Amino acid sequence: MKYALVTGAGRGIGRAIAQRLASAGYHVLVNYKSNDAAAEETAALVKSAGGDATLMKFDVSDRKETETALNQWRSENEGAWIEVLVNNAGIRKDNLMLWMEPAEWDSVIDTNLNGMFNITRLLVKDMMVRRFGRIVNVVSLSGIKGLPGQTNYSAAKGGVIAATKALALEVAKKGVTVNGVAPGFITSDMTSDLDEAALKKQIPVERFGKPEEVAALVAFLVSPEASYITGEIISINGGIYT
Ligand code: NAP
Repeated sequence: MKYALVTGAGRGIGRAIAQRLASAGYHVLVNYKSNDAAAEETAALVKSAGGDATLMKFDVSDRKETETALNQWRSENEGAWIEVLVNNAGIRKDNLMLWMEPAEWDSVIDTNLNGMFNITRLLVKDMMVRRFGRIVNVVSLSGIKGLPGQTNYSAAKGGVIAATKALALEVAKKGVTVNGVAPGFITSDMTSDLDEAALKKQIPVERFGKPEEVAALVAFLVSPEASYITGEIISINGGIYT
């Protein structure tokens, strides 16, 4: 049994990644924070397509909770290891710096940046020991170029981008690759408050992307064919120049 853990897989991009990795033969560990119904739907979609999924409810921003959940999984699955980790869980709390509350800054950094650390540190050793592993971090256009109203989110994603490059160098010789995918505007709950009609004028392809399109890129990066790609941040944004 090959295991892949996708954080924030209850909805949106994470759900599409979970479905795609399941169809590639992975038993998918579906992490989410609080929306039980959505996560159960992800698991049902995976299973109805002939795959297998296990729900793992924990808050990636909570170091202790993350560790407890992973230790529990290990004790219930002796000898098993997670060979693919997709750090996808993320939130936005947009505000101009002028008005930004400390809680808005902290929660976005804690989830998007610290969440990646909290979970990756627990899984990278197994990958190195087994001499195979794939880590894909879902970052953002915002972390590459910076977007107004998103100093917190741009800082968090920019931090993950830098960590992706550094970690890739640490583990390359052990057969572990670490890459980032940087979506532009993708249709999901996270972007449901945005004015797609206005924003798509800035997108050369003239539409928002689909979660399935991001999932296809992630599936390639975790495949054996992508063994020679590491430390890269691949944009998927319909042609927005970064
Ligand atoms: P979404 O539809 O809002 O879904 C977010 C998922 O993350 C949900 O399953 C949510 O769990 C989970 N989550 C949030 N905080 C969490 C935490 N602390 N611990 C565990 N799970 C947590 O978002 P999305 O659009 O699919 O975004 C997925 C990723 O892509 C994010 O990292 C986002 O920053 C990035 N991204 C998105 C876009 C876009 O246009 N949509 C563009 C660039 C980058 P619950 O369901 O339990 O709430």
